[in-house]
Amino acid sequence: MPQTDHLKTDCSKCAALCCLALAFDKGEDFAFDKNPGEPCRNLSGHSCTIHGKLAREGFPGCVAYDCLGAGNRVVQEVFGGRSWQQDARLTRPMMEAFSGMREVHKRIDLLRAAEVLPLEPHDDRTRLDFLGRLERHRWSGQELNDFEVGLALEIDIFFHGIRKYVPAHLSGAW
Ligand code: SF4
Repeated sequence: MPQTDHLKTDCSKCAALCCLALAFDKGEDFAFDKNPGEPCRNLSGHSCTIHGKLAREGFPGCVAYDCLGAGNRVVQEVFGGRSWQQDARLTRPMMEAFSGMREVHKRIDLLRAAEVLPLEPHDDRTRLDFLGRLERHRWSGQELNDFEVGLALEIDIFFHGIRKYVPAHLSGAW
């Protein structure tokens, strides 16, 4: 386990990025429509005013959502604790960085999960190398914007290559 568990979500160190950036449609999981970049109408500061009764109020989708620590990492590591609520010019860069960091953290999650596979030593070294790069790097907004067309592709190719180790009954998860 790394010293800092980057996948641990800590909303107290975030700036409600999911409640700003993500879109949802009215339905079983959400009680109204929300566009990306539109602050949720249930938001007050960085807190949800219906946090204790989300499911009852028609928002089980919010209960189920977990950014895997991407929001708090973006706010603290990339923006030094600042918020789009204090400076509206940060709204777009914070949304973009949140999107990039979610992709980083999804891959950290998968690289950790691959620990249980019977990888050949050279593949496990590659896995650990990617993991170290994603976890230890201090990301800038620009690097996060570039992630999906650079390092993420390399990692996805690696994932494709290690599918041969995945037992048939688990192949849908990879
Ligand atoms: S209902 Fe609450 S948790 Fe869900 S998006 Fe709105 S403010 Fe965030």
